Amino acid sequence: MDMLIQFAYVVSAALFIFGLKKLGSPATARRGNTISAVGMLVAIVAALLDQGIVDYQWIAIGFVAGGAIGAAAARLVQMTSMPEMVALFNGFGGLASLLVGWAALSPDAGTFTLITIVLSILIGGLTFTGSLIAYGKLSENIGSGAVLFSGQQVVNSLIVLGILGSAVMFCLQPGDMHWLYVVVGLSLVFGVMAVIPIGGADMPVVISLLNSYSGLAACAAGFAVDNNILIVAGSLVGASGIILTQIMCKAMNRSLANVLFSGFGSGKVEATEVEGEIKPISVEDAYYVLEAATNVAIIPGYGMAVAQAQHVVKELCELLEENGAEVNFGIHPVAGRMPGHMNVLLAEADVPYDQLLEMDDINPRMENVDVAIVIGANDVVNPAAREVESSPIYGMPVINVDMARTVFVLKRSMASGFAGIENPLFYKDNTRMLFGDAKESIGGLIREFS
Ligand code: NDP
Repeated sequence: MDMLIQFAYVVSAALFIFGLKKLGSPATARRGNTISAVGMLVAIVAALLDQGIVDYQWIAIGFVAGGAIGAAAARLVQMTSMPEMVALFNGFGGLASLLVGWAALSPDAGTFTLITIVLSILIGGLTFTGSLIAYGKLSENIGSGAVLFSGQQVVNSLIVLGILGSAVMFCLQPGDMHWLYVVVGLSLVFGVMAVIPIGGADMPVVISLLNSYSGLAACAAGFAVDNNILIVAGSLVGASGIILTQIMCKAMNRSLANVLFSGFGSGKVEATEVEGEIKPISVEDAYYVLEAATNVAIIPGYGMAVAQAQHVVKELCELLEENGAEVNFGIHPVAGRMPGHMNVLLAEADVPYDQLLEMDDINPRMENVDVAIVIGANDVVNPAAREVESSPIYGMPVINVDMARTVFVLKRSMASGFAGIENPLFYKDNTRMLFGDAKESIGGLIREFS
């Protein structure tokens, strides 16, 4: 029986890895998800058989309650609120590891087990509260700006020292639960303290870092309860979260340390001096320009998600193609509010994957683009990242829409984007502002074409 269980663990680990690989491309991501889910089912069944004394009643209660909440959330949560939901999932993953680690405590636990228990508790605890803060910032239940105060680094260092000291003391005197309570309390506090100084614009990185932490916590919990598949699954989440974090830092041309400690978005940003004037355009005039265009690039951003404009965007794209234009989409790695946000929306509208070009592929083509249509994107097309050294986003790679012959920016007002900074693109000679809700503006263009 044991052989069979270990074999099932190997099979599910292989399914996880295979599933993760498929998640690498939008074309295969759905299948990847299903494969990983099957892997999880195999893992759960094997784990249940693996444990001699399992109370199935509690498992059934957990299964029904968790399943009901998950199903309701998946149905009810808006696409635009997905990032917050991911933050919450990470947080509950951390909390689960904290509880599993704690439950694994027993009087005859050896030093190694104690260390893994403490690790799962402390990483799980800080992931839980850190994720709650990330959730609050993203959902704007709390201010999304960075919260900074003098002596913050010192306070944080003292908390870390406190956590490490009490963790060591607990491992030396496992009978004294006070040390464990201190580890739990300080870890929960540290989660809050670590995320409040990070501005809303950096939340994508924080979410994927917390995702990685939740994996590490699960991995430690796997050691604590001696479950191989939890160790493997936790390591996979931990490693993939770190890789995603690296990719996102690279997409913003910043180091992880800069993201975590610079207080980017704290509101102390100096206003960018912008020259030029705003030139609004009507739907009718925009149509005439588009009608003559042979090469069009569409750059979606968070506003497309807010307006739920993906289906009309696809319709416009088809009309432009029927009119003889080549149409491509330029996807910035941090456009929207979560990694892959734009890909998911455009896939929902059945936009062919080969039309979605990554930033590095579309930028060299931008000079040949007749019209770049920016749909609810702001920070990711901000030329200040290239041109204004004092800008807080200076050095962040952006999609160079300003290099196209004409740029249409579809947004409702002159409001700033997530980073809260001015965008000189709107004032450039070749930019025309098409004000209004993106779905309505595109609907208007479609009516003109038909
Ligand atoms: P931004 O947040 O920079 O800009 C979105 C724009 O959409 C706003 O300027 C807004 O202007 C406009 N908008 C909102 N609603 C509508 C609507 N209904 N119709 C038309 N326009 C609308 O988005 P970007 O995608 O350019 O940039 C993403 C930003 O979010 C980056 O700073 C990134 O770092 C950050 N971020 C990214 C995450 C990720 O993982 N991708 C996660 C968290 C943050 P107006 O109000 O005038 O309409």
